[in-house]
Amino acid sequence: MPAHTITLIPGDGVGPEVSEAARRAIDATGVDIEWEVHDAGLGVIEKYGQPMPNHVLESIRRNKVAIKGPLTTPVGKGIRSVNVALRKDLDLYALVRPCKSYPGVRSFYHDIDLVIVRENTEDLYAGIEFAEGSDEALRAIELISQLADRPIRRDSGISIKPISVYGTERVFRFAFRWARANGRRKVTAVHKANIMKHTDGLWLRVAERVAGEFPDLEFEDRIVDNMAMQLVQKPELYDVLVMPNLYGDILSDLAAGLIGGLGLAGGGNMGDEIALFEATHGSAPKYTGQNKTNPMAMMFSGMMMLRHIGELEAGDRLERALAEVIAEGRSVTYDMKPDRDDPTAVGTSQVADAVVAKLRG
Ligand code: NAD
Repeated sequence: MPAHTITLIPGDGVGPEVSEAARRAIDATGVDIEWEVHDAGLGVIEKYGQPMPNHVLESIRRNKVAIKGPLTTPVGKGIRSVNVALRKDLDLYALVRPCKSYPGVRSFYHDIDLVIVRENTEDLYAGIEFAEGSDEALRAIELISQLADRPIRRDSGISIKPISVYGTERVFRFAFRWARANGRRKVTAVHKANIMKHTDGLWLRVAERVAGEFPDLEFEDRIVDNMAMQLVQKPELYDVLVMPNLYGDILSDLAAGLIGGLGLAGGGNMGDEIALFEATHGSAPKYTGQNKTNPMAMMFSGMMMLRHIGELEAGDRLERALAEVIAEGRSVTYDMKPDRDDPTAVGTSQVADAVVAKLRG
């Protein structure tokens, strides 16, 4: 019997290329993994009527650990958003995105080692929206105008921002426990409580309460606009940043920019029982099938996955192999070169060859 059975979803666009590269790197660590490979996304809609068929969700539920390539969100009525399906159905409420500098990466910054924990189920991304002019929007506008005693223009679209005590408490508990387990020293709660008193205000209040349960860890808070500036000016001051869904989406791309771009940013969607690892980037459709994009973001997600399943030493070896390939600067893709048309840039599979060679070397 293999030591681990893990669901692998190759994904759309460049997904299959970067996933294959990451699988090769993970396998080269020598950890005994049986991969349950399942297609999802655009290519299966015709066959199963939806991009995330039930048997794929069942495989993830059974194995409790999965890694996926990016999936293109199809535009069209009646098709459920893949990410909403995954995060909601599997209750993956915390998205962990580490951002760490490695020598050799082209960036203005050199000493960054921070982690963004993004609440993954609530906030303006809860998916509760009413289209401008729809019956629902007009009814919501009427009701809210009465309740709030403030006029809302009738030609408005409406998005609802729910932030609950339950959702906030569990993401902060997760973040503090994660910080403790990973040798971190400080947790920063990010919010806009000065303006949104009943949603972000609640977020901050609950954060302060949960922080009291972890006296060994430092706690502080930052208003999100100030946080954006601080991340650009003094990122080295920060450690674990916990933020609601929308701010997390934006600031994790900003943080990815600090460490060299989307090609290097990995992550994991975490629930109480299930973990689903994926790169921060999307399916980059224009590069499909060109063996061009950087597989390192998927490989860093794989490194997190190895640590999550208890293979700490293998995770460390994969990180060292990636760091060496980055530092040498020979076997890296176009996005890591000073000029995007640099003819010495290699392709996705050549990066995998280099990382595998380091691991086997
Ligand atoms: P994207 O991340 O796919 O691409 C934006 C640009 O970033 C690319 O054109 C490319 O220049 C660069 N890039 C991205 N990944 C790279 C890599 N590994 N190496 C080198 N360069 C890279 O974002 P997008 O164009 O906004 O989205 C395309 C599709 O992906 C959309 O359908 C979107 O919904 C989906 N998406 C999926 C996920 C996910 O599955 N988790 C996340 C984000 C976007």
